[in-house]
Amino acid sequence: MANVEIKYTKLFINNEWVDAVSKKTFPTINPQDESVIIQVAEGDKADVDKAVEAAVKAFQRYSEWRTMDASQRGRLLLKLADLVERDYKYLGDLETLDCGKPVEQAKTEVLWTTTILRYYAGKADKILGNTIPADGEVLSFTMKDPVGVCGQILPWNYPIPMFVWKIAPALAAGCTIVLKPAEQTPLTALAMAALIKEAGFPPGVVNVIPGYGPTAGAALTNHPKVDKVAFTGSTEVGRIIMSAAAAVNLKRVTLELGGKSPLVIFNDADVEKAANIAHRAAFANAGQCCVAGTRTYVQSGIYDKFVAKATEIAKKRTVGNPYTDVQQGPQIDTEMFNKVLGYIEAGKKEGAKCVAGGGRFGNVGYFIQPTVFADVKDDMKIAREEIFGPVQSILKFETFEEIVDRANDSNYGLGAGVITNDITTALAFIKHVRAGTVWVNTYEHVVAQTPFGGFRESGIGRELGEDGIQQYLETKTVTMELPKKPLL
Ligand code: NAP
Ligand code: MG
Repeated sequence: MANVEIKYTKLFINNEWVDAVSKKTFPTINPQDESVIIQVAEGDKADVDKAVEAAVKAFQRYSEWRTMDASQRGRLLLKLADLVERDYKYLGDLETLDCGKPVEQAKTEVLWTTTILRYYAGKADKILGNTIPADGEVLSFTMKDPVGVCGQILPWNYPIPMFVWKIAPALAAGCTIVLKPAEQTPLTALAMAALIKEAGFPPGVVNVIPGYGPTAGAALTNHPKVDKVAFTGSTEVGRIIMSAAAAVNLKRVTLELGGKSPLVIFNDADVEKAANIAHRAAFANAGQCCVAGTRTYVQSGIYDKFVAKATEIAKKRTVGNPYTDVQQGPQIDTEMFNKVLGYIEAGKKEGAKCVAGGGRFGNVGYFIQPTVFADVKDDMKIAREEIFGPVQSILKFETFEEIVDRANDSNYGLGAGVITNDITTALAFIKHVRAGTVWVNTYEHVVAQTPFGGFRESGIGRELGEDGIQQYLETKTVTMELPKKPLL
């Protein structure tokens, strides 16, 4: 285990570090060796109430935040980006400690988040309304107001990137925030909170409450003074959040949920290149990625060659101590570890051909062998459900029409990929596939400028890009009577 100093373990409310009202704490676990890293303050309803009160106060008219120039909000975000860049090595080390991802990957992710902070910094003073040629003797225009107090609930798979995806557009828009990181990964959210304070954001603008979903998370979604909830996680919890929002105050909801994304490879593809793209699509972040391309469909002409190549690449994938030069660390926790192993057993039982991996890696920590199943059928559990682990399912297809229907035969619709050199095939696939993002001859290219989100049960709304900031704005229509002639 690396020697990473942990500076913050308390709740962050009103730019201060405080214990939970209950004084309770909970352990955060190192997935590499299953040891307790440290105890963290456990937020619950009473703490969420305090944090929401702080966020409401920071959002009041005449507050420092509400009267600040939009360009100044941008400058604060730029300052935060500089601080993240200054501390990226430390933040990467801490991220790896708490969630087990390879440390070089963690550091790359941290640096990547600065592009998002800077993108939204630039947007802060470019939030525009319209002037509208409305019927009648009137002047009509729209203004964009911040939505208000936002509850933001994070998952554990990309803790710092998810933190930044959530806060950056909300802050650029002028909202205030109460954020709950995932119970598995509270440490980097607290480290980021310290940088927010150092950057100079006024008290109450961002509050961070570690704790559990059914307590702290539910308190946030059920709070009548929270105007919007933004959530990333499971479809199951997404449904709970949406019904709570509906019941309490019709708060705005954006949901970024799971997926079972198809990657379709046609006969004309370069097999080696396609197998490498498909490997990264399935195994990035140990498969703990909402947009993972886990249904690899390969056309029959190259199917056998592709399976052989995919198997070879998966067998070479390096797994182990995430502080060393490996491609894959442990899964996040014992629950996910067991869930993924359960899917691997289901794949074997249902008759898929396990050509690589197929079980635990080592005997300490939540490591799983990179696993490839060939000859997978559409109705198998491993082809239908989100596994969230290092498991690739390869399926065979014959024709374009067949594969579009099969690719779309899912309740999800987050990502989709196609690998072909034929522009007509690619364009037809783009046109007919039902997914929030389509990649052609690449996969999982996600950047600050392009919107990200899902069709169907993969979610509601978009993050990143211009769409991402619009989700934190309300449109206010202003209509003024125009005088028929000057009064004076
Ligand atoms: P999850 O339960 O959906 O957790 C996501 C976040 O929601 C966590 O902060 C969680 O708190 C919180 N939460 C849980 N119950 C809540 C409630 N009733 N009200 C408000 N917030 C609540 O996800 P998970 O259990 O960590 O993982 C389960 C599955 O979700 C995975 O297998 C995967 O399929 C999917 N997932 C998807 C993504 C994605 O990027 N779309 C990310 C992670 C997981 P806790 O910290 O207490 O859990
Ligand atoms: Mg959970």
